[in-house]
Amino acid sequence: METAYITKSSYKRLGKALVVDDNVSIDEIFAALYGESLRQIINSKEAKDLHIRKLMIEEGFANLKMAPRRFSPAYVLSVGNPKFHLIKDCSYLQSDFLNFLVPPEIEAQGHDKVREFQEYCEENRKELYKEPNDAFWAIVRIKFKIKNTPKQISILNSGVHDLGDISVEDLQAAIDKSIKEANRMLHDPHAGASIRAVRYARHINVALSSLTERSLTDESIEKTVRAFFDTKWKIINSLFDLYVKQSGLRSFVVPLTILKSASFEPCRGCCFSSKS
Ligand SMILES: [Zn+2]
Repeated sequence: METAYITKSSYKRLGKALVVDDNVSIDEIFAALYGESLRQIINSKEAKDLHIRKLMIEEGFANLKMAPRRFSPAYVLSVGNPKFHLIKDCSYLQSDFLNFLVPPEIEAQGHDKVREFQEYCEENRKELYKEPNDAFWAIVRIKFKIKNTPKQISILNSGVHDLGDISVEDLQAAIDKSIKEANRMLHDPHAGASIRAVRYARHINVALSSLTERSLTDESIEKTVRAFFDTKWKIINSLFDLYVKQSGLRSFVVPLTILKSASFEPCRGCCFSSKS
């Protein structure tokens, strides 16, 4: 079977494009993830996503199939779908991922303009990656009649690095500590009731606005709700790391057929040069 390498963040993202074939109940999913205690903290959607990732790590892709996919217009370099790499040492697989937010003026002009803007930046990627890239943005500002340089965002690339020397036991201890912490917040005398009211919200902002609407918040409650959501994400991410660690997976390798049907594209840095 032909396979290729992808980054950890792409691997996690790929999980969102997959669905499990058989119907496992949500009870079974929670039991498989980390036991009952998680149920108080994460919602069903998060549990299902984590479950898919666990299956990817532990069983490969035999029982998974593609789910419908969505396109994000938010980022400049989103024209390029996620990339796969044929060479494990490809520098693009290791390097930090650089991107920019599509400026509001462009967004306001609709989907076609966004695509045109993204395509231009994508085609001139080399200029964009130059340090400094002021000259590139000066041209873009004139060409697209925008006032400000797009805001840069740096997503620290998860790359292919393994989890170093953290032992399974240490990871479990950290997860247990976070679960305990989340439970403590859920039963906090001041903020507990508010957290319990919104703990399964799909996003922190949804949770906070829901609390504001219901007058269930103040400055200190908001702080604790934010801490709760941070802790929840820490647990979800640590569980992913735990499954990886337990499985002995050393890099994120995926069958090419899956990557292609998930619209992953060959990396320009390693997939073409290796054939010539
Ligand atoms: Zn590559």
